Amino acid sequence: MLNGKTALVTGSTSGIGLGVARALAGQGADIVLNGFGDAGEIEKLRKGIADQFKVKAIYVPADVSKPAEIEALVKRATSELGRVDILVNNAGIQHVASIHEFPPEKWDAIIAINLSSAFHAIRVALPQMLERNWGRIINIASTHGLVASVQKVAYVAAKHGLVGLTKVVALETAKTGVTCNAICPGWVLTPLVQQQIEARAKAQNIPIEKAKIDLLSEKQPSLEFVTPEQLGAFAVFLCSDAAAQMRGQALPMDGGWTAQ
Ligand code: NAD
Repeated sequence: MLNGKTALVTGSTSGIGLGVARALAGQGADIVLNGFGDAGEIEKLRKGIADQFKVKAIYVPADVSKPAEIEALVKRATSELGRVDILVNNAGIQHVASIHEFPPEKWDAIIAINLSSAFHAIRVALPQMLERNWGRIINIASTHGLVASVQKVAYVAAKHGLVGLTKVVALETAKTGVTCNAICPGWVLTPLVQQQIEARAKAQNIPIEKAKIDLLSEKQPSLEFVTPEQLGAFAVFLCSDAAAQMRGQALPMDGGWTAQ
């Protein structure tokens, strides 16, 4: 379905971004990986995608907290693979603390990486999508783009902002072949959530498995994690013709979290 298209997925060296990149490659898209990590491990991921799915896959190591590096990322993707048709703004970080104890530098970093990076990437990638009159912009928001939780002031603000940004981009592109939507996952068992589980286990002096179940029980009625593969399949759907009139939506996949 995506033969001849190129997908740039920020933060795709791990977790959800990697799941989305693999799913898009499975449909024939060439892939631009981005994110941090061990160079050897990243090269294994890149080669694994290229070999398994018979697509081109490159890795571009940009820090998306820096607008100039995002611009360079989109430019390098375009020069090496010819185009960017699908942009998945996925890179994200978390910090958990009450507002009066929240380090201002963590606020700045979360707003930069979880929100502003999407603005800069879209700003730079959109013109070529409009020229070809086809594009898919998928912002990985969160249930925290729709509802709040304590101790996540920067994350919740950034993700609500990302949902707002998604709506504006969708309206500005509404008469074109470019669509923009946000996916709002509930808990997914990635390094980002594993850290929160470990912190909870330590703080309450309980086993990791108990901390995992407690975390799910608080928010996610299914008591099961959403998987990167399920989110990848959702992204593939948003890239299909069937989703051409889905515009500006914030779409939960959350085990029932936001139904409550
Ligand atoms: P993860 O920690 O597994 O992956 C995050 C990725 O972002 C990694 O590849 C990392 O290297 C990259 N990254 C971090 N800072 C970066 C920077 N400055 N520049 C470039 N890359 C950077 O986390 P994840 O859970 O897969 O999270 C991916 C996205 O999904 C995030 O936006 C997160 O907020 C969102 N999300 C996660 C969950 C969850 O339960 N895991 C739920 C809802 C939304």
